[in-house]
Amino acid sequence: MTERVGHCDLCGDARVFVPVYPGGECPDGHAECPEWACADCGGAVLIGFDAAPAARTTGVVTATRAA
Ligand SMILES: [Zn+2]
Ligand SMILES: [Zn+2]
Repeated sequence: MTERVGHCDLCGDARVFVPVYPGGECPDGHAECPEWACADCGGAVLIGFDAAPAARTTGVVTATRAA
């Protein structure tokens, strides 16, 4: 079984991620689906696991307040 380790935003730590659609069952028709789900909480999905972690949007936005 294919597994990968990545940072889960929901767990707040490193977790094992598994393919959301193993075996090419992806409804979007991806030959190799880029969607990976956290095997621990199952609620976090990473898109494009091969992208550099630093380039990935974490969803944490620091609002810049205009005075
Ligand atoms: Zn897909
Ligand atoms: Zn998780």
